[in-house]
Amino acid sequence: MSEGVTTYLDHGATTPLRSEVADAMAEARSVPLGNPTGSHRPAQRARRLLEESRDEVAAALGREPGDIIFTSGGTESANLAVMGTLAAAASARAGGGAISVVSSAVEHPAVRESCRAAAHTLQVRWRELAVDHNGVVDVESLAAQFDDTTALVAVMLANNETGVVQPLGTVIAAVRALSATARVFTDAVQAATFMDLAASTADADLVALSAHKVGGPVGVGVLAVGASTDIVAQHVGGGQERERRSGTQDVVGAVGLATALRLTAAERHAASCRVAALRDRLAEGLLRSVPGTVRTVSREVATLPGHLHLCFDGIEREELLLALSERGICASGGSSCASGALEPSYVLAAMGVADTSARGALRFTLGHDTSDAEIGRALAIVPEVIAALRHEP
Ligand code: PLP
Repeated sequence: MSEGVTTYLDHGATTPLRSEVADAMAEARSVPLGNPTGSHRPAQRARRLLEESRDEVAAALGREPGDIIFTSGGTESANLAVMGTLAAAASARAGGGAISVVSSAVEHPAVRESCRAAAHTLQVRWRELAVDHNGVVDVESLAAQFDDTTALVAVMLANNETGVVQPLGTVIAAVRALSATARVFTDAVQAATFMDLAASTADADLVALSAHKVGGPVGVGVLAVGASTDIVAQHVGGGQERERRSGTQDVVGAVGLATALRLTAAERHAASCRVAALRDRLAEGLLRSVPGTVRTVSREVATLPGHLHLCFDGIEREELLLALSERGICASGGSSCASGALEPSYVLAAMGVADTSARGALRFTLGHDTSDAEIGRALAIVPEVIAALRHEP
């Protein structure tokens, strides 16, 4: 087997740009495009492409086009959702009333750090919602974290490290039962390839997406904000995106995101079944052939079809990732942002995974283009690499 071959099992970090998306973006670029706010022909063309893309993204999310705010990616969308909603709540409570935010203990750093920043800059009280040993939020404990100061609850649709799908509908029902004013934000960045967002995020007030996780370009994202939710812009300037996010829009990027979402929706069912079968084959093969391998999340828990999270006993994650990379296997330690860092994962810590197990934790994430041959290759190489790292004969 050629050592030059790459088996890419890190779709959770980023997905390859799909050729159909690249073609649609090239076509959009093939005619002069102006600034969509202008009035001449190239500007009109840009505006038409932007609004067509907005319509398509809105349809994929089951939202109104006016709900869609184009951003630079998932991180910006999460920042705008958290900071924007809390800033709006703070100004609505003039007179200095307290504000609080509740986020699940396993949110992506884009959400977590936004909560931390809000705690500092807006004097918002931040509480975390616990998860069980599988990483599923404990909805029962929401009431204990909630009070009449709670303006926002952030629970992701699916976790980036483990792929665990959260019971978002139950969370939203619980929030609605507790408050008429608190808003729910869901980070759907990881879930977008394999879950029907229109169905699964229908009742959320704010939803974040990122194009590069669904076969689209890096640097484009969306925050969908329902009409009854107020946010304060975090980028001010020319007032684009209905005063909610200033800055000239990336029209070609928006075309790429809309195309990627369209392709994803058309293939979702078949791709999910095929990818889940490949993921299960990888899981069963590794559990059988590598002693001391444990599933981080029980099989009974709903996870995204492309995610497999395993803990390998007696292995240091970074050493394993490097050794796998030398053999052409791309995986990751969990969060793409923390990859390369040696600190233990706060997600695994929140699940109560022992430090010794967490050290050897690895995330394999398959995508719509992952092949049978790639899984075969991973099944041949990963056990060899682990045996060598463990100095097994
Ligand atoms: N939220 C989740 C769940 C993610 O997995 C990521 C990226 O890994 C982000 C947010 C950030 O998205 P972006 O890379 O587009 O800034």
